[in-house]
Amino acid sequence: MRLHRVQALGPNGLTEPRDVDLPVDHADVDATGLVLSPGWCDLHAHLREPGFPEKETLATGAAAAAAGGFTQVVAMANTQPVTDTADRLRANLARARDLPVRVMFVGALTEGLEGRRPTDAVALQAAGAVALSDDGRHALDLQTLVGALQHASATGLPVLIHPQDESLGSQPEAELAAVEQAVAALRQVPRARLHLQHVSLAAALPMIAKAKRDGLALTAEVTPHHLWLTEDALRRWGPLAKVNPPLRTEADVAALRGALIDGTIDIVATDHAPHQAAAKRDAETAAPGISGFETAAGMLLTLRLPWPVLYRACVALPRAILGIPLSPDWILIDPAETWAVEPDRFLSRGRNTPMTGTRLSGRVRITICHDRVVHHAEVPVG
Ligand SMILES: [Zn+2]
Repeated sequence: MRLHRVQALGPNGLTEPRDVDLPVDHADVDATGLVLSPGWCDLHAHLREPGFPEKETLATGAAAAAAGGFTQVVAMANTQPVTDTADRLRANLARARDLPVRVMFVGALTEGLEGRRPTDAVALQAAGAVALSDDGRHALDLQTLVGALQHASATGLPVLIHPQDESLGSQPEAELAAVEQAVAALRQVPRARLHLQHVSLAAALPMIAKAKRDGLALTAEVTPHHLWLTEDALRRWGPLAKVNPPLRTEADVAALRGALIDGTIDIVATDHAPHQAAAKRDAETAAPGISGFETAAGMLLTLRLPWPVLYRACVALPRAILGIPLSPDWILIDPAETWAVEPDRFLSRGRNTPMTGTRLSGRVRITICHDRVVHHAEVPVG
């Protein structure tokens, strides 16, 4: 496959247009105005298998990831059963073998995500875990977290923390307390590597910046929805805008955008959290989460983030955090295509998004993984 006049995305932004040959069996493409990027890597997704096929399966999740431009995806451990043993990790990897994109798995940090006994980090790593995380829960006290970090540091695996102290609910204090606790734990185990998931508050950013200045191995992520939406979305969308951590204020959104650009926040991760319609109906009992794979790239491109920031946040640093090399997978982006979000057309089983009808500019046109075209969007007429 030859791409004519394509601009390539790298650490310094976009190259001048040139012709590029890819080892893929596919017709040539006039890529004038299009951007060729290494496949994006999503450090944070819920693929719901095993246990919740009504929400997503590995197959539907991987198809949605491909449509969103993610060729590498890390699946969280809050499945049924929880991925907290080497056998379960190996079973997940066996199920994921023939998917269109590369799906990796975290092992739970504590047994059953209960925040009490650390899992066997060495065995999980040997089985193929790429990180450790209790994501979805945060029931650890400081002492337990320090112990879990010590186990993890023996393996070199990063620990991904869902910083939301369960005992404090979803108030801002819950996130600030958990970020403070995580940094305090890392100070006690400076050989560990700690990553803060879905940071949502401006007030958390100075703590993260200070820990980084102090030389701690701390990284942080933000989701596309926390870069876009405020608590106003709850009034309009009700349960569809219910997510953990909650959508915050305009000032938080502005601060998060600035922190992503200045590097206080290292990466963007989707926290793709698909649910069936019934789980999102009732305001009181609705499950938290947003189906994120298929809107992420459009949301980020619409923000017109500098290209080197997109490369760092979606290509380079997610892999650096995992300690894995860039895979030879590619996506072709049309930064000018405008489109409206239509969840009925998602490949994910989760159509739960508060972005319905929003016009985005920028879309993933083609995704190439394992030297195959695994996604090819129809080109709009006119
Ligand atoms: Zn989480």
